[in-house]
Amino acid sequence: MVSSLTCECCNRYETDINSVNSFNEIKLFFDEQVKNGIYLEEQVLKPYYVWEDDKEHIEHYATKWYRCMICGCLWEIKYPDFPSKGFVKKYDDGIYTGTIVINNNEESKKADIVLKSKINNNVYYMFSDEIFIHGDNKSISIPLDSNAICFYDMYYVQDKLFIVVSTNRDYDYLYVLDEKRMILQKRGMTK
Ligand SMILES: [Zn+2]
Repeated sequence: MVSSLTCECCNRYETDINSVNSFNEIKLFFDEQVKNGIYLEEQVLKPYYVWEDDKEHIEHYATKWYRCMICGCLWEIKYPDFPSKGFVKKYDDGIYTGTIVINNNEESKKADIVLKSKINNNVYYMFSDEIFIHGDNKSISIPLDSNAICFYDMYYVQDKLFIVVSTNRDYDYLYVLDEKRMILQKRGMTK
């Protein structure tokens, strides 16, 4: 009989930590994995967020990194400091790729349009080929469509955030950005 250890990594997901209960559950889970020798705590080597402008260079580091001794994946955990939520992120191949750098000298000034969200704390920087979401550690690329050329406009109509994508045809695409899921939903065309 061979007894082999298995890990729970496949059953655990990236998530925001936005309640004391979820934080307790997550902390207990990771503590137990360490106790059982399945996860090993590692030094947090890289920031998940870097902000630079003319005056400041600010780095934010997660609270914990854990490596799974069985599948090799890397877990990054930022403890919440309510009302600031925390998060759990996972790097399946064990390589940390989570650092978001905001360079306010160059990036934001090069943006074609800068817009503050009406429904959350995000700031959107629209470039021709991507919309960078400051506050959500994400960017949105041009939709996969052979006619799409570049982002062209972004504006609110009431609480709906419309995004115009220029095409190589005689019309443009009109999208709405779902600001909860951060995905573009096609709404039609515009002349
Ligand atoms: Zn694992």
